[in-house]
Amino acid sequence: MTESKCADFERLRSDVDAKLQHLIELTTLLLQVFRAGDYKVFSRYDKDLENSVGQKERAIGALRQHSIEHRCQPGKTEFMKEFNE
Ligand SMILES: [Zn+2]
Repeated sequence: MTESKCADFERLRSDVDAKLQHLIELTTLLLQVFRAGDYKVFSRYDKDLENSVGQKERAIGALRQHSIEHRCQPGKTEFMKEFNE
């Protein structure tokens, strides 16, 4: 258990976690606005969602790159490679 405790990896992992959680919240909000038929507000949140997806992609990319370069996650590197391809 101690071998995989890399502070940087944990920080990057938390970042991906937070960004995925944010996507859930934003998508839920977007759905509510969509159902309410408020298309002006919808457009704004829809743009936010696009930006948030981009941020999530970068966070995953950073996590993947760290795990490959730092080799602090033995046994997980192949998985990290796969999910960005
Ligand atoms: Zn590391």
